[in-house]
Amino acid sequence: MIVKTEAIVLRSMKYGETSRILTLYTREFGRMSVIVKGARGRKPKFGAALDLMSRSDTVMYKKEQRELQLMTQADLVQQYRRVIDSPDRLMYGFAVLEFLYATVHGEEAHEELYDILREALEALDAERARPSNVLLHYLLRLSGAMGIGIDTQHCARCRTAFEEESALQGSASFSLTGGGFTCAGCPPAPDSMETAVETVRALAWLDRHAAADVHTLALSPRAAGESLQVLERHLKSHIPDMRAVKSVPMLDIFR
Ligand SMILES: [Zn+2]
Repeated sequence: MIVKTEAIVLRSMKYGETSRILTLYTREFGRMSVIVKGARGRKPKFGAALDLMSRSDTVMYKKEQRELQLMTQADLVQQYRRVIDSPDRLMYGFAVLEFLYATVHGEEAHEELYDILREALEALDAERARPSNVLLHYLLRLSGAMGIGIDTQHCARCRTAFEEESALQGSASFSLTGGGFTCAGCPPAPDSMETAVETVRALAWLDRHAAADVHTLALSPRAAGESLQVLERHLKSHIPDMRAVKSVPMLDIFR
């Protein structure tokens, strides 16, 4: 069956003399592995459409029950040049791709995930981007789309709204089993991780805003680092077969 779909390249590797094998996240079919014959050599096919992070309109010859599909056409729609050309942004771009690769395994259509990925790359590519905020926002959305969203606005135990100043005092704690933060009035869960109050407020703020607006929030290095730890540990604890995300230790969020 010939199918058409928009796709973003999550991974790319050389295969044989002239081919390339790509892992794509596609709008219509979720994650897919494809082979591109003639992608390399003297007259390489499809150019930048096969580069990591590129967004393209693709055509595939797709057979059910086959793990590797044959890509027959790819036309570049968008290349995120500011991300590719800036080492700081690029590391965050890698992390965005890698988190999706690590958490989503089977081939299953999930348009929301595709849109979240595209919006994150666009926000990273914006003139005034704040890459660490984009990643945090993306991970919040990713968790939500996978059905394991964090309620950043209420205590995970007693449901008190964090809007009330008194709900958060001194420090806060994030419970991995509870999948959320607890208020000042509730005892922290035994498996919880202590964070600054600013961390809860930051995640709540990010949750209420669109990817395109997150550059307006200035976060302390502590709150940014803790937010990433909370989100990464939350994903790991709910997705038992999640792969390690190797780009995380290299992010400047921890510097
Ligand atoms: Zn509470």
